[in-house]
Amino acid sequence: MAQQSESAPGAQRFIPPDADTLDELRAAAGGCRGCELYRDATQTVFGRGDESARLVFVGEQPGDMEDQQGLPFVGPAGRLLRRAVDDAGLDPRHIYLTNTVKHFRFELRGKRRIHQTPDAVHITACRPWLVAEFARLHPEVIVVLGATAAKALLGPAFRVTRQRGELLPWPAAAQHPEDFQRVPVDSAGKTADVPQARLLATIHPSAVLRADNQEVAYEGLVADLTVAARALAA
Ligand code: SF4
Repeated sequence: MAQQSESAPGAQRFIPPDADTLDELRAAAGGCRGCELYRDATQTVFGRGDESARLVFVGEQPGDMEDQQGLPFVGPAGRLLRRAVDDAGLDPRHIYLTNTVKHFRFELRGKRRIHQTPDAVHITACRPWLVAEFARLHPEVIVVLGATAAKALLGPAFRVTRQRGELLPWPAAAQHPEDFQRVPVDSAGKTADVPQARLLATIHPSAVLRADNQEVAYEGLVADLTVAARALAA
């Protein structure tokens, strides 16, 4: 694991060790100062959805609308993802949506806030929240959306462009599987082996919106999600 820098001490110290539920984690994440991104963003945008979800999506970071509303995937990319979920035959009621980095990173140009990709230091600083979320989720399939989420979970050598749509064993495929192998059973410290799942990477829905040929890019996203749908149906 990368060392934490002085300017980004990391989220670990903000995670209550006795937090049993995602709601408790969400409440604690509201006060995170694990890196400098909290300073300019409006609020922490934690994951949301079904705690017993069979399918978990991991994206990059909240965008402008997510930052304002405090909810992930409520902007244009989120709308497109919901359409793709429907078109792939996935059940939108049983999913959990989260991001690798929980604060919006942007650059001000005039009055506009322009998205900036998180750096490795932000991904590393925020990763403890993602690990903590996974410790309270029991998905059968994980869908990683885009390069930032893939880096956080699978390591820097993973290439979404080369390996998208491929089902990988989880947590065996993680860069640090030991972070995801055990889940807490109770707040007294008892843990259990995590149920085996599968992970699939695909492009981020915002990449579809930026693509020269949006139709082809969208079809590719739906094709990858259809692989996830089949895996859940098997
Ligand atoms: S981006 Fe993550 S680590 Fe940085 S302040 Fe926000 S929640 Fe904490």
